[in-house]
Amino acid sequence: MPNHNSDRRNFIKTAGIAAAGIGLTGLPSFLHAQSGAAGNAFVQQPLLYDYKGLEPVIDAMTMEIHYSKHAATYAKNLADACAAEKVDTSSAKLEDVLRNISKFTPKMRNNCGGHYNHELFWQCMKPGTATKPEGKLATAIDQSFGSFDTFKTQFTDAGKNRFGSGWAWLVINSDKKLVIGSTANQDNPLMDISELKGTPLLGLDVWEHAYYLKYQNKRPDYIANWWNVVNWEFVQKRFELG
Ligand code: MN
Repeated sequence: MPNHNSDRRNFIKTAGIAAAGIGLTGLPSFLHAQSGAAGNAFVQQPLLYDYKGLEPVIDAMTMEIHYSKHAATYAKNLADACAAEKVDTSSAKLEDVLRNISKFTPKMRNNCGGHYNHELFWQCMKPGTATKPEGKLATAIDQSFGSFDTFKTQFTDAGKNRFGSGWAWLVINSDKKLVIGSTANQDNPLMDISELKGTPLLGLDVWEHAYYLKYQNKRPDYIANWWNVVNWEFVQKRFELG
């Protein structure tokens, strides 16, 4: 059995050095990219729109419970796990913990993933009616999937077919290829234990807590409407940085 404590100490040392510069892939934290400020990525950030902002696609009560209860709990439990597992959140990078998640406990896996996934998810959406990607991302989607409509169908299927709770993703992998997939629970494609690997560009929460009040069991209806609130400028920015 590997010595997890020793692995973890070595990782923490490395992460301390990496934190002084740029992330392992050269991709800055999405939070820093968004705000230009050194906000602590381990802490829940303010929503950039109010709870009603995504209506009628996502109702205000779902947003309020999702953000202030579900996501806030992941952030709190992440803080507890970091304290217990000796991650210095003032110097470590959130993404580096995810990339080394096999060295940590299931509590860290569930809550570090849960926190990262939700922080990304809020920014993947914005009030108003979404159009479609433009520029280099639009070209890459056409080249990778044939057309934007085919991309949407494949991404929708990834969300519909994820059994139980989880996430659908568009990622850019280490070969700079766009890939669609899904992960279970709060896993994500940055994790070393994930089958789907890459940097998430767009994530969709398909846990029932994300849609049940308005859509009940009709996950496909939630996904079909969700396309109307996707923040393509944000996804494009992440693609261009990656
Ligand atoms: Mn959620």
